[in-house]
Amino acid sequence: MKEIVVISGKGGTGKTSFTACMAALFNNQVVADCDVDAANLNLVLNAAVVEEYEFVSGHSATINKDICTSCGRCREVCRYQAISEDYQVDRFSCEGCGACFYLCPAGAVSFDEALCGHYFVGKTKTEEWAVFAELLPGAENSGKLVTAVRKKAGEIAKENKNDIILTDGPPGIGCTVIASLTGASFIVFVTEPTVSGVHDLKRVMELSMHFKLPGGVVINKGDLNPAYSKEIETLCLERGFDLLGSIPYEPLVSQAQRQAKTILEYAPDCQASSAIRQIYNKLCVQL
Ligand code: SF4
Ligand code: SF4
Repeated sequence: MKEIVVISGKGGTGKTSFTACMAALFNNQVVADCDVDAANLNLVLNAAVVEEYEFVSGHSATINKDICTSCGRCREVCRYQAISEDYQVDRFSCEGCGACFYLCPAGAVSFDEALCGHYFVGKTKTEEWAVFAELLPGAENSGKLVTAVRKKAGEIAKENKNDIILTDGPPGIGCTVIASLTGASFIVFVTEPTVSGVHDLKRVMELSMHFKLPGGVVINKGDLNPAYSKEIETLCLERGFDLLGSIPYEPLVSQAQRQAKTILEYAPDCQASSAIRQIYNKLCVQL
């Protein structure tokens, strides 16, 4: 079983659209959406929820007003100003340090595991398994939620003898990206030929080189700026990553997205679809 992780140094490069196209081309796969702060691959793949799991991580405090004597000790010790004058805990400000729980003389504070989000197992419109997640507003620990999504995808792939786990990774270079790369088989970097595209590709390549994983680059809208596309090619050579291909700008992509379809479904004969199929063939050889 191989796990391909699709990442981009920044948002808006077409990473999720590209992953959805790969999902349409690969067979016998599990799709994992690890962009847990803004998961939307499930919408393109039209995944219907089959199972739902709670994601709990860390702790948060709650004050029992029936027991509280309003002594004020908890407000003194809370370094995050998370407790109001009428002794309510603001869950967005509570950092789960536990000081109020341990120091409340009346035992009025409970300190339970915090519900930070949910993750789901679904079936896509092509009857493939998909795992995706939803972080609650203001919740943290998204790196741990990425790990939970990947673990569930791995269990499903093992159970069903799937060949491929196709993971839509998070944007950026933070802990969620690190959590999505650990133990993967191959990285696909999706970038675009712009100043910020090249800059962020360099950063994410540097991060990825720590994992010593093979990888390849896809240039989205590659024909829009040949000079920057050339710079990306040079970067691939210098850093030892293959250039998997370049997808030309295709205005029909936006129309396809509005109908929750991939460009392969919406306009299978356009140049972009043809380039995506060539990239898929090249990727298969690399695995
Ligand atoms: S320390 Fe305990 S008893 Fe005192 S105000 Fe806070 S919750 Fe109430
Ligand atoms: S757990 Fe810590 S951060 Fe949260 S309310 Fe209590 S003292 Fe403040």
